[in-house]
Amino acid sequence: MLAAALARRLRDAPPMDEAANPSAIELVALTKRYGEGARPAVDSINLRIAAGSYCCLLGPSGCGKSTTLRMIAGHETVSSGDVLLENRNITDLPAAERGTAMMFQSFALFPHLSALDNVAFSLKMKGVAKAERHAKAQDLLTRVAMGHLAQRKPAELSGGQQQRVALARALITQPRALLLDEPLSALDPFLRIQMRAELRRWQQELGLTFIHVTHSQEEAMALADTMVVMNHGVIEQAGSPHEVFNRPVSEFVARFIGGHNVIELPDGKKSKIGVRTDRTLVARPGAPAIDGLASIPAVVSDVEYQGTYVLLGLQNPAASHAVVSTAEYSVMLSESQFAAAPFAVGEAVQLAWTPESAHPLTKTTTGATHV
Ligand code: ADP
Ligand code: MG
Repeated sequence: MLAAALARRLRDAPPMDEAANPSAIELVALTKRYGEGARPAVDSINLRIAAGSYCCLLGPSGCGKSTTLRMIAGHETVSSGDVLLENRNITDLPAAERGTAMMFQSFALFPHLSALDNVAFSLKMKGVAKAERHAKAQDLLTRVAMGHLAQRKPAELSGGQQQRVALARALITQPRALLLDEPLSALDPFLRIQMRAELRRWQQELGLTFIHVTHSQEEAMALADTMVVMNHGVIEQAGSPHEVFNRPVSEFVARFIGGHNVIELPDGKKSKIGVRTDRTLVARPGAPAIDGLASIPAVVSDVEYQGTYVLLGLQNPAASHAVVSTAEYSVMLSESQFAAAPFAVGEAVQLAWTPESAHPLTKTTTGATHV
């Protein structure tokens, strides 16, 4: 009886993520055309972003990431479709009335203002009295562990401290979602890795929805609960970094996120599969280790020692005479695997894979069909 009632409740209940975790942001057939007859920069995308999650919009330059973010922020008009924030249609609201806030590249702080005045700035614009806006700004700075440095100017703060001031400045409008457009791309690599860990930590502490645009797959993997891979104005794939990395749906996603070999099967249908570079097997032709496995011939084109592993670059033998500067396939071998059976440049080998490590790359980019 009880079990039946429970089963019914589960069946009738909305899906778990909607019940426990309402979508903060929903994009419905969202489209942007910058000119009449122009190919859409963003082409009827549909996306739900769970409240309190870290979402990364990822893709190559020009694929429509910033346009999407600006339409969510209200800094760009929508050609068609809708933007919903917590079930409220905000498509036509001005930026300041949406409940979103934006954090820009290299934080864009006013250099002549103290941290406190930077944070209080938008309240000043709204005409909030000085005592009140300073109290609010001080409170937020304290929340991001910057209360004691409120009087410093940006130049007197480290990169990490500036990021926290920028965060406090974005939070002062009490946004429901924070939008970040390549916030780390102007930083040097060392600082970038430090700052991204800090962004993730603040997002978790605040429990706020973050939507972060990046062209770096490494950054998206490190940060995101959900990564949304875009290409030519459409979403190629959305999922957890684990899902996207382990099951890229298309050749574009497999190549863009890296760490995969795209292998064309000699099956007449020209179908392609993806195999992770650390799960691609390499062996001399006829070696028992690859007996019975699917395989293709390849020629070793370079051998790179990378410390914890050795990276083999390989070419398709048919293409080996062409002027190709980058390897077509890669295989990651542990140092000990390589030491046990070293391969040399120019050697003819077989690349093999087990059925469970291969998955079809069947999805084709729909956006490419538009003219
Ligand atoms: P991303 O942020 O992914 O690099 P964008 O959203 O900036 O891409 O741009 C998507 C496409 O829209 C590109 O082809 C770009 O040239 C075009 N585009 C972006 N902004 C404008 C604009 N203000 N006017 C005309 N075209 C634009
Ligand atoms: Mg951009």
